[in-house]
Amino acid sequence: MKGTSPILTFMKAVLLTAVGKLEVKEIPTPTPGKDELVIKMLACGICGTDRHILKGEHPAKMPLVLGHEFGGEVTAIGEGVNFKVGDLVSVDPNIVCGTCDHCKAGRTAHCRNLEALGVTLNGGFAEYVLLPKTQAYLVPKNVNPLHLGLVEPLACCIRGMDLAEMKGGERVAVLGGGSMGMLVVQLAKLAGASEIVLITRQKARRDVAMLLGATSTIDPTTEDVTAILKDMDVSFEVAGVSETFHQACAITRSGGTVLVLGVAPNHEKVPFSVYDLVIRGLRIIGSYINPFTQARAAELIASGKLNLDPIISRTVSLEELPAVLAADPGQGDIKYIVTGD
Ligand SMILES: [Zn+2]
Ligand SMILES: [Zn+2]
Repeated sequence: MKGTSPILTFMKAVLLTAVGKLEVKEIPTPTPGKDELVIKMLACGICGTDRHILKGEHPAKMPLVLGHEFGGEVTAIGEGVNFKVGDLVSVDPNIVCGTCDHCKAGRTAHCRNLEALGVTLNGGFAEYVLLPKTQAYLVPKNVNPLHLGLVEPLACCIRGMDLAEMKGGERVAVLGGGSMGMLVVQLAKLAGASEIVLITRQKARRDVAMLLGATSTIDPTTEDVTAILKDMDVSFEVAGVSETFHQACAITRSGGTVLVLGVAPNHEKVPFSVYDLVIRGLRIIGSYINPFTQARAAELIASGKLNLDPIISRTVSLEELPAVLAADPGQGDIKYIVTGD
């Protein structure tokens, strides 16, 4: 193609054009520059963050192609890229600068110049996606393409596991039955937990959790969580609401860990007992995004050690996406994966 001007082709993309407004549009198919590649999107998970952005509850640039949990097949590479056309890759959407004080100290999640595909740059809800080569992770070809939509959320959960520093034989509670809760159940099982209790309102989700390795479940609408559970070693809060944060603190033993993966809205304040922190010595730790875990997440998915199909409730086409994102998720549904068609 050198010397000739590239022929402009168009692709389908779902664009956020204003708060509350998603439109399926034809936009130019990206072409990679130096150190960039283009992938054909094969799977992109719909995340709570996408819904928050759509409602204007989370800042994002506009117009923008949303979707940050994705992967696909390499279709074009720029100069300096080691991937080959046809490679399957998962994408780490979080682009760090590598030069700010936080990056240089290894705290890349807090990069002062953090950009994210699907949040500040065009992301995965399109037929093709342009990426810097730093964001792509090679995945073996035997991986089910739909599972590429789960690598990023798994990477966030693995980060949480890193911070929880679990030891074998521990008793674990998981508060929240969304896709991250279901992934944490499986990671806790792989980490050797002796007991894994999943707490969630929807029966269909409790049933899936039992299939994936939970040893018991609790319905918080009919059962008293804090009366049933005491002295858990590690509690994972993955619901992102203040009530579950309280429960997590109450059911965790002194010196135990409350690992917070769920993000409650910024304006939501949670009354908090300093007694729990000082006298009971709870380790309350927030886990944000996926620093240094994307490669391990891809490896783990490729290993086949996780049961992912029960987590995927349905696939959604790009055409269907605006209506699906505007509506509330169906009862008992866990994860929706957008495909590139
Ligand atoms: Zn997400
Ligand atoms: Zn930085």
